[in-house]
Amino acid sequence: MTASKTPSPVLVLFRDDFRLSDNPALHAACATGQPVLCTYVQDEACLPKGVIGWWLGQAAGALTEALGKLGGTLLTPQGETLAVVKDLVKAAGVSEVFWNRRYDPVGKEIDTALKATLTEQGVAVQSLSARLLHEPWAVRTGAGQPYRIFTAWWRAARELGEPGRPLPTPQAIQFAAVPEAFKKDVSAKALLKPALPEDATQAAQYWPCSEENAHTILEDFLDDTLAHYETDRDRPDREGTSGLSPYLRAGLISARQIWQAARKAEARSGDHVNTEKFLSELGWRDFGWMQLFYEPQMPTRNLRSEFDGMPWQNDAEAFTAWTEGRTGYPLVDAGMRELRATGTMHNRVRMVVASFLTKHLLTDWRKGERWFYERLVDADPALNAMNWQWCAGTGIDSSPWFRIFNPVGQSEKFDPSGAYIRTWVPELAGLPDKLIHTPWKMDATLSRHLRFVPGTTYPHPIVELKQARAIALESYKNLKGSEQS
Ligand SMILES: Cc1cc2nc3c(=O)[nH]c(=O)nc-3n(C[C@H](O)[C@H](O)[C@H](O)COP(=O)(O)OP(=O)(O)OC[C@H]3O[C@@H](n4cnc5c(N)ncnc54)[C@H](O)[C@@H]3O)c2cc1C
Repeated sequence: MTASKTPSPVLVLFRDDFRLSDNPALHAACATGQPVLCTYVQDEACLPKGVIGWWLGQAAGALTEALGKLGGTLLTPQGETLAVVKDLVKAAGVSEVFWNRRYDPVGKEIDTALKATLTEQGVAVQSLSARLLHEPWAVRTGAGQPYRIFTAWWRAARELGEPGRPLPTPQAIQFAAVPEAFKKDVSAKALLKPALPEDATQAAQYWPCSEENAHTILEDFLDDTLAHYETDRDRPDREGTSGLSPYLRAGLISARQIWQAARKAEARSGDHVNTEKFLSELGWRDFGWMQLFYEPQMPTRNLRSEFDGMPWQNDAEAFTAWTEGRTGYPLVDAGMRELRATGTMHNRVRMVVASFLTKHLLTDWRKGERWFYERLVDADPALNAMNWQWCAGTGIDSSPWFRIFNPVGQSEKFDPSGAYIRTWVPELAGLPDKLIHTPWKMDATLSRHLRFVPGTTYPHPIVELKQARAIALESYKNLKGSEQS
């Protein structure tokens, strides 16, 4: 009688998809019926710094715990992906490797090389679609080109029908034995858990990190907030949005899961308008990733080359005042302080601070993009770059340069009573509503009464809006002129 041979293990690589449910790579690996090795390679080339580095470490920790509850483990070796995976495949006798696709330039390059090497060595590879509603190349114009306008792209994307249904959590995972040489990579110490920047440690309290947390946040949003989404999503003084972006970024929840849950909520409530608005924001997420897929230099290069000669002033003091929330414009300062304290900022305020930095302070959008990338808990290479280029007017389908948000007007419109400003700029908390957006207008009597000294208690505006706007418009006019001459 011959002894039955133990089936060879299969390998699942986790990267920005730290979840068990709707995880096509994990699902397909389990479906082979072979033992599974779950691995997260901590590759320097893919480990961002700043708040997002901390967040991804937390998410990997949450996955380790979730796998532990199923009797398994997450291997977290450090090193270059290609070298580590080759060693692991050899040591464990892996017959097939599964991963969910990445679309950023570094991830794409690593995965292409890995696939080629493994295939050459006779190891099967399956890369699957998990991150987006539709693959970046799924929606093309009639001429086969990527779309450049969101509304046209979204219309075409909707014609593809509903996105695929999310996959269930595997009922049970048969875990493979960890090869001797990799046993050091399963201890709690093996997982790098980057710390938060020193001046942002309080952000941790805002972000409970697990797959369950992501689903609870989604359910709460659908029950309590979706019904007012279209109007309240622009109001930083209200709970008007889902708060799901960090969870999407780390893959603790998938866009397809959110889509399907929103559709179920819509079936219960009949609320088509708010649901469609919310789903279209998930569309913007796909649109951003489609842009990065076709324009890998989007985080560093103007997508409209006419801006390459823009005479950015890049005033270092003004930039520091912006990062520290000391510009003298209450909504801008509230946003920048919210960012530092929590790792996030309301979308409307992100637009206002980005417009202010690029247009009123004539600072290159790339400086703002980098600052956001280090500070945001949802820092996303595609969405951050697309939105900065949108705000600066340098992107495709972006807000034109001459659309310059007035930070006072935006503040009066979207934070009318100043509740948001009072939360993040405590030195303005005691001001009457009519001065909360323009504290520099306080008269001497009230100033004495409130013990509030404009310019001391809170800074004077660092630029005069009308003048800064005129300079911004003039710079662009000259740029256009020099382009034509
Ligand atoms: C200058 C600037 C930089 C930004 N940087 C990032 C970033 O690094 N990471 C990031 O996730 N978002 C970024 N955004 C987009 C947006 O601000 C956030 O996605 C949103 O604030 C997240 O909050 P929410 O999850 O409550 O959004 P909701 O309103 O609940 O929207 C649901 C989801 O839709 C997507 N979404 C919403 N708005 C946008 C948008 N404008 N563009 C693309 N997708 C969107 C997000 O995945 C979001 O989680 C940026 C916006 C600006 C103006």
